[in-house]
Formats: sequence, structure tokens, C-alpha cells
Amino acid sequence: SREWHLVSRPHGWPVASDFALREVPVPQPAEGRILVRNLHFSVDPYMRGRMNDVKSYVPPFKLDHPMDGGAVGEVVASNAEGFAVGDHVLHGLGWREYAHVPAQHATKVDPELAPLSTYLGVLGMPGLTAYAGLFETASFKEGDAVFVSGAAGAVGSQVGQLARLKGASRVIGSAGSDEKVKFLVEELGFDAAFNYKDGPVKDQLREAAPDGIDVYFDNVGGEHLEAAISSLNVHGRAAICGMIAQYNDTEPVPGPRNMALIIGKRLRLQGVLVGDHYGLQDRFVQEVGGWLRSGELKYRETLVEGVENGVEAFLGLLRGDNTGKMIVTLTR
Ligand code: NDP
Repeated sequence: SREWHLVSRPHGWPVASDFALREVPVPQPAEGRILVRNLHFSVDPYMRGRMNDVKSYVPPFKLDHPMDGGAVGEVVASNAEGFAVGDHVLHGLGWREYAHVPAQHATKVDPELAPLSTYLGVLGMPGLTAYAGLFETASFKEGDAVFVSGAAGAVGSQVGQLARLKGASRVIGSAGSDEKVKFLVEELGFDAAFNYKDGPVKDQLREAAPDGIDVYFDNVGGEHLEAAISSLNVHGRAAICGMIAQYNDTEPVPGPRNMALIIGKRLRLQGVLVGDHYGLQDRFVQEVGGWLRSGELKYRETLVEGVENGVEAFLGLLRGDNTGKMIVTLTR
């Protein structure tokens, strides 16, 4: 079985030599564990943070140890009650072909209900992030004008659609290519979208939302956040979800220069961590599952084939190669 190890801590942009694909023996499951053949594993932006040796809300990856993260696979041997060979499970030991998973860290999933990969995306952690961040953190209400950055990604593409489905007056998205902009407007039903590489975000946002915005869902930080603060209306709210524009920075970057606007406009900017919101899981699956079945909510995945391409998929995610959720598939 092959698995990806972090072998040196990246400084700035990660490079291929920071990682090694290593061959390890496949164990028989110990008491209370199951052996899972992974079929899909997730690469996520937060993993960049785990490559640094700093204290955060998730511990750093250890050097010369397998990296981990969300994965779905098939049970091929079981030494745990309640799990049988052939079951499909969601678990946290991705970045490898075979996972030796403690049963209490595995959740059964049904491939008949939804394609297995969706448990890593639209019906999984990024989906719940979108749902909780928009409805809880940003206190979205009908009639709000919503702006989301990183809008063609896993979280962002869902945020915009959830806002539309719940009666937003206007949904605006930004993304890094013309193709993605087209996808947002033509396929996902955004009212307006722009390519942030085309010119100042502040100007493009003003043009796309002449009457301002009530909610900003931040996946990007930096210039996007400053522009959103400028465009937010009185009593506007921002869910601060991610700052991917800064994850590879080697020096702290200056914050938005227009923070004083927060006072006059009585803005609320609040962080969101998906881990706080698993209490919403049932409601989320029910509601989003319904919209998926009815076709009102669409999702896209970018699938990269083969464990050996895992690191390349991760680097591609940071570069913006993906539309929708970036997933490594190991189906042979
Ligand atoms: P995405 O699917 O959105 O993939 C990342 C995207 O970021 C890329 O496709 C790229 O798209 C965009 N990007 C990369 N660099 C930049 C840049 N400099 N400026 C603007 N956009 C950039 O990933 P996710 O949906 O999984 O995650 C989105 C955000 O949400 C991330 O910031 C992530 O850390 C955060 N997150 C937070 C969680 C929480 O609990 N707080 C949970 C899950 C995710 P493009 O081509 O448009 O540039």
C-alpha cells in the first residue's frame, strides 16, 4: 500500500520534494479496527496550514508520517462490531491506498443514496461549512444580497446556490478564470460574477452590486475582504471562512485598510469553523439532499486519478485548477 508522507515543511508554496510516496505493508485489522481500501480522498486548503509547525485548531502533520484527511472507501477486512466487508465508510485517514481505521472514527455511508465522492464535498465537510457559515454565522435572511469569494470552489459554489435557493435578492461571486465566471452565471444561477484577476476587486464588486451587499462569505481574505467591507451595507455580516490568498505567504500581510467602516456601518465579521456545527448535520443532509435530488442544487467535482497524483492534486487546488471539489480517486 502506498501513502503520502510530509518530509519537509514548505516555506511559501509547497514543492513536490516536500512530500514522498512511500510503500508500507497492509496490516490485518487489530481489535476494534477495520481495514479500508480507499476509493476517494480529499485534498483541502486547510491542509496547507497543517504543513506548518504551528499550533492551530488542527495539529500539524508530523514529518515522515502519513498525512491524513477525509476519505471514503470500502471495508475489506473487519475486526470491529457493526462493520462488515463490503460496507462503505467515511473516515479521516486519507492520503493512502489502505487505511487501518479505528471503528469509532468511521461512519457508514450509502453509495445508493449518493455517489461516494459527494460525502467529501457537497454532502460532506465543505457542504456543511457553506450551510453553517451562511445560515448561522452570517445570519443570512431572505432578501439579502450575498457576495462569495472563491465562488467556483467546493464551499463557494454551494454558498451561492444556497443563498439563491433561500431567496437572496442578488448573488454575486468572484473566481479566478473566465470559464469559472461563466460556470457561476450560466450553470449555477449566480446573478453576477467576475474574474478577480481582471482588475481591482473593489471596482468589480461595486459594478456587480451597485446597491451594496448584506452578506459576505470570505474564502479568500486580502483584497477581497477589504473590497467587501467597502461594499457591505449597514448591519452587514461577513462569515470569515478562509483566507486562501494568504496561505503560502511567508510574512504576515497587512489587514484591510478600511476597518473603520465597521463602526459606522455596524458590521459583524465572524469566523466560522465547521467543527462547531456538526449539530446541524441532519438538517443539512436533509435539506441539501432534497435540493440535489430535485436538481435545484448543482455540484461539480474535479477528479484526479491515482494515489501517485495526490500531491499534484493538492498543489493544483492551491493554484485554482479545480472547479468544485478537488478529489483524488483510486478506483481502478
Ligand atoms: P476550493 O474548492 O474553493 O479550492 C480553492 C480555490 O481557491 C481554488 O480553486 C482557487 O480558485 C482559489 N484560490 C487560490 N488562490 C487564490 C487567491 N490568491 N485568491 C483568490 N482565490 C484563490 O476549496 P474549498 O472550497 O475546500 O475551501 C474554500 C475556502 O474555505 C478555503 O479558504 C478553506 O480554507 C476554507 N474552509 C474553511 C473551513 C472552516 O471550517 N473554516 C472548512 C472548509 C474550507 P480560483 O481559480 O477562483 O482562484
